[in-house]
Amino acid sequence: MLYPPIQNFIGGQFVPASSTRTLPVISPLDGQSLSTVPMSDRTDLDRAVTAATTAFASWSRTPIKERVQVFFRYKTLLENNLQELARLCSEENGKTIGESIAEIEKCIELTEFACSLPQLVTGEILEVSRGVECRTEHVPLGVVASIVPFNFPSMVPNWTIPNAIALGNCMILKPSEKVPLSSGRLAELLKEAGLPDGVFNIVHGDVEMVEAICDHPSIEAVSFVGSTKVAKIVYQRATSNYKRCLALGGAKNHLMVMPDAIPGMTAQNVSASMSGCAGQRCMAASAMVAVGEVDHIIRSIVDEARKIIPGENLGAVINRESKDRIEKYISEAEAQGAKVLLDGRGATVKGKENGTYVGPTVIDHVKPDMAVAREEIFGPVISIMRTKTVDEALAIENQSPYGNAASVFTQNGGVARYIMDRASAGMVGVNVGVPVPREPFSFGGWNESKFGVGDITGKSSIEFWTKLKKSTIKWNPEAGINWMS
Ligand code: NAD
Repeated sequence: MLYPPIQNFIGGQFVPASSTRTLPVISPLDGQSLSTVPMSDRTDLDRAVTAATTAFASWSRTPIKERVQVFFRYKTLLENNLQELARLCSEENGKTIGESIAEIEKCIELTEFACSLPQLVTGEILEVSRGVECRTEHVPLGVVASIVPFNFPSMVPNWTIPNAIALGNCMILKPSEKVPLSSGRLAELLKEAGLPDGVFNIVHGDVEMVEAICDHPSIEAVSFVGSTKVAKIVYQRATSNYKRCLALGGAKNHLMVMPDAIPGMTAQNVSASMSGCAGQRCMAASAMVAVGEVDHIIRSIVDEARKIIPGENLGAVINRESKDRIEKYISEAEAQGAKVLLDGRGATVKGKENGTYVGPTVIDHVKPDMAVAREEIFGPVISIMRTKTVDEALAIENQSPYGNAASVFTQNGGVARYIMDRASAGMVGVNVGVPVPREPFSFGGWNESKFGVGDITGKSSIEFWTKLKKSTIKWNPEAGINWMS
C-alpha cells in the first residue's frame, strides 16, 4: 500500500472509525493498491455531528469578514500544494496530471469566490414607516453535510466546503469511497489555514453512511452530487426527514452541430469534451446531433480524437467494472447497426496492464432509441445521431430525462439563440464543448440532473446555505402607531 490506512477527520484530528469494515483503494492508472478506506457507521457520524455542533456555537458568531480570512489562507495553501494535490487526484481517480492540475486550479477559483462572499451577502434595510425599519440578513443553517462522487475528488468537495463554511455553517463531508485520499489532504490544509477544529469533518463510508446522514436529526441540510439514481434516493430521504436538500444527478449532454460550424474549432471542442477526464464529467459531450450535411466535421472529429492516446493525454476510467460497462455499450450499439468510426475497446497501456483504460470512441449513425443515445455512459465515447432539421435535433435533446448541459456549434446567431431558448438544459453553450459557468455564475442542471431549488455554486448557493432572518425594529418611542403596530 502506497499510503497508510485512511481515517475519519473529526474535531480537527484524524481518528479511526469504530467499524472495522474497510474497502481497498486502487489506482485506476495501474491497479496499484493505494490504501484502505473505513466504512464508518452511525457512531462515527454521531461523533462528527457532536464536534460540528460544538464548533458551530462560536463559528456562526464569528463575523464573515473574519471567517473568509481562513479561505484567503486556504487559497494560498492550495496554490502552494497544487502539484502534490494534483498527483494525489491523478493517482486515485485516474485522470491525467494536466487534468488534475486544472481540477486544483478550479478549487482555487471556487475558494476565491468564497472570499468574495462578504460583498454578496449584505442584507437589506428600509424605513417601512416613520421610525420603523425592516432588515434582512443571511444566517447560517447549522451542521450541514456534503456527499460527493468519484469523478472530481477535490473540485466537487470544494463546490461546497468554502461557501458553506464561509457562510457560517459547520460541515460533514462524505467522500466517495473510490477516491477518499484527496479530501484528507484538504482537511489538513483547512486546519493549517486556521479553520477551528470541528468546523470541517470527514466521515468515510458508503450507502450506510449516506442513509445515516439523511436520517440524522441534527443535520440541517444535505447537498449531494452523484448519479441520478442515488440523487433521487438522497433527495427523498433527506427531505422526508425535513431537511433542506440539493441533489445533483447524472447527465446526457447533447452537442448540436450545424453545417456552418467552423470545422477545426468544432472538432477540437467535441473531441475534448467527450474525452476529457476520460468522459467521466457530468458536463461531457456524450451525444452529438449532426444537422444536415456535416460529414466533413465528423471526419475532423475522428482525426482529432485519434490524437488522444490512453496513458498519454487520456486517463483511465475509474475501475474494471466501469471499463466493462462502457465497452458493452459500444458493442451493443455496433450490434444494433451503428457504425464505430473510432474504437476504444480493449485499450491497454504498456507497463500499466492493470490500469483500466478505454480509448476515444466515435460512433456514427446512432438511432435515438439506442442505449448509447439515451443513457449516461461516463466514458470517452460520443454517439452521433443524424437529423435533417434543427427542430428534429431539439426534439432528441428535449426527450432526454436529463438536463445538465447542451451546446450548439454554428456561426449563425439566430440559430444559436433558437437552440439556446429551446434546449431543456440548465447550462447551455454556443461553440463551447463544456459550458461550465465560471464563478460568480452558478452551476446546476435541470430535470433529472438536479433535484431541489437553486444551484450548488456561485451566487445561487447563498440561498441554499443560509436562511433569512427578517427583523422589524423601532427604537423611537415617538414613532407613529399604525395598522402594523
Ligand atoms: P454515485 O451516485 O454512485 O455515488 C455518489 C455518492 O453516493 C458516493 O459518495 C457514494 O458513496 C454514494 N452512494 C452510492 N450508492 C449509493 C446508494 N445506493 N445509496 C446511498 N448512497 C450511495 O456516483 P459516482 O459514480 O460516484 O459519480 C458519477 C456520477 O455523478 C455520474 O452520474 C455523474 O454524472 C454524476 N455527477 C454529477 C454532477 C453534477 O453536477 N450534476 C457532477 C459530478 C458527477
